[in-house]
Amino acid sequence: IAAQGGFGAAALTSSRTAARIGSRIDVQAVTRQFGKNVVLDRLSLSIEPGEFLTLLGPSGSGKTTLLGMIAGFQPVDGGEISVDGKPIQDVPTHKRGFGMVFQNYALFPHMTVAQNIAFALRMAGIGRRDAESRVREVLQILRLGEHEHKLPSQLSGGQQQRVAIGRAIVTRPKVVLMDEPLSALDRRLRESTLVEIRELHRSLGMTVIFVTHDQSEALALSDRIAVLDGGRIVQLGTPSQLYREPANRFVAGFVGESN
Ligand code: ADP
Repeated sequence: IAAQGGFGAAALTSSRTAARIGSRIDVQAVTRQFGKNVVLDRLSLSIEPGEFLTLLGPSGSGKTTLLGMIAGFQPVDGGEISVDGKPIQDVPTHKRGFGMVFQNYALFPHMTVAQNIAFALRMAGIGRRDAESRVREVLQILRLGEHEHKLPSQLSGGQQQRVAIGRAIVTRPKVVLMDEPLSALDRRLRESTLVEIRELHRSLGMTVIFVTHDQSEALALSDRIAVLDGGRIVQLGTPSQLYREPANRFVAGFVGESN
């Protein structure tokens, strides 16, 4: 099994979560504006069940706003967002059942690794009996077993981010939203965590929406990439389509940029 920097693939194939399939998400003509500043202008995007879709664009292009609307943190000023065909605008954030991972992982400092992960289950109303085996499963998948009784302050940045990922997936969400989850990590940890995220998605099959301004992350991870500029999608395609046939100079410049 994947040894160095490896990943608990064996834990996954034997796990009941292995065959899960993600949700479909349809964003239809959504608009968001702050005063006169139209940040997203009738943007439409469909994300297939189980797809790994990246929103890629420079700072200020509207990525976080769009993810926030899907998550429920941001109001939708026009248009509609539906999940598996059901409109979700009226469903509050905590009832959408999405897993979320952000740049600043914000673990509870006074709780151990296992308690941090278990807390997500409590919030989701999952009973104690199931909780223990689920936490154990996630600790194994993310190779955190030996750290389960440690506090976040006793972990490296990469390990803390793995706990944050564990917390996001322990409820077995059909959708996981990630906003720049690698940007606080140094280069080496970024690469190993990137591989883990990719493996996790392959094994669990949930839908992932991933936000980044880093084209190398987008190219390495995604089934498809939506390139945003000024609140609009300027190109939507597979990594190789974007790389080989950029729709315009902006995409060519941005996607072709070396790190
Ligand atoms: P990105 O995630 O691509 O960096 P954002 O979605 O954060 O972009 O921001 C897109 C645009 O929306 C920017 O021009 C930003 O200034 C504006 N914006 C975001 N949040 C607010 C806010 N709370 N108030 C006013 N303008 C905002």
